[in-house]
Amino acid sequence: MKRPYNFSAGPAALPQPVLEQAAAEMLDWHGSGMSVMEMSHRGREFGEILDQAEADLRELLAVPAHFKVLFMQGGGLGENAIVPLNLSRGGLVDFVVTGSWSGKSYKEAARYCNPALAASSEASGYTSLPPPATWRLRGGASYVHVCTNETIHGVEFQQLPDLRALGCDAPLVIDCSSHIASRPIDWSRVGLAFAGAQKNIGPAGVTLVIVRDDLLGHALPVCPSAFDYRIVADNRSMYNTPPTYGIYLAGLVFQWLKREGGVAEMERRAIERSTLVYDFIDGSGWYVNRVDRSCRSRMNLPFFLPDDRLNEPFLAGARERGLLQLKGHKSVGGMRASLYNAMPLDGARALVDYMREFAASHG
Ligand SMILES: *Cc1c(COP(=O)(O)O)cnc(C)c1O
Repeated sequence: MKRPYNFSAGPAALPQPVLEQAAAEMLDWHGSGMSVMEMSHRGREFGEILDQAEADLRELLAVPAHFKVLFMQGGGLGENAIVPLNLSRGGLVDFVVTGSWSGKSYKEAARYCNPALAASSEASGYTSLPPPATWRLRGGASYVHVCTNETIHGVEFQQLPDLRALGCDAPLVIDCSSHIASRPIDWSRVGLAFAGAQKNIGPAGVTLVIVRDDLLGHALPVCPSAFDYRIVADNRSMYNTPPTYGIYLAGLVFQWLKREGGVAEMERRAIERSTLVYDFIDGSGWYVNRVDRSCRSRMNLPFFLPDDRLNEPFLAGARERGLLQLKGHKSVGGMRASLYNAMPLDGARALVDYMREFAASHG
């Protein structure tokens, strides 16, 4: 079955073999006579699924033994509260705001601690990243928050900041929701990473938190028990019922990633796909991407047509060709092509072919 190419920013396309496997196992998981949705989370079967998912993820991302992997609920926005509830100790937290998502994190944190803006790229319309050497980091901050891939503005850190080299001892917290598993993570620079699953690793409803052991156990008294990282870790993500089906599907995605060659191969493909589209945009003299070349996202590519009145015809023609969900986020306008791990190179090629044709007939 040939499906359309789906460029949604999230919830986003999943690898077809994963969907097919889930469909085949829907009524009877491995001879258990049950759908994964119908199993006790405390039973042997689901225990196997969870253990395998965690082991595969640890292998894929080379997560060191002194980090815990938590499968939680609440999404990326939930973590905007859950992280300060667990890590801030009610004190100083520094934020680097490079787009919508880090902006939301900064705002939400003010309910629980004393956040400050260490740097912002608002003046550039979030088309650049402030160099780490210019960040105003406060001594004694509990952590420093960055969003390493801004899904809406299409801005990505190509390298994690080295806070220690900047004279800062605080742990780095990264929101890597929209590019997790598309590139390796240098854990020596990270204290906590979180990611909603629905961009690159599974369905909505699962949130991954990978956190260094020494950061557990400092939750504020108002922190809900179900969101206290220490409690969640001590109960192996089963303090309360975890999002079992989402964890199962994420686990199938991890197995698919391993079969396809792992994160190194995903990174190679992401570079190939995104370079194809950016090179076409830049060379077209018609479409425009405004993000500085040094920090363009490999996952989310916003672009504009020369005249907004062409947006609707562009989207209609795209749909006709089986190119879905290309409309840009309302705060930015224009178009956005999200090229996550599940997008084949042929999808990027089909997009460029269509863009070329559309420009020729409307230019
Ligand atoms: C989508 C997204 C979020 C929000 O996730 P929800 O699950 O909707 O709460 C947060 N951060 C980033 C970078 C995202 O892409």
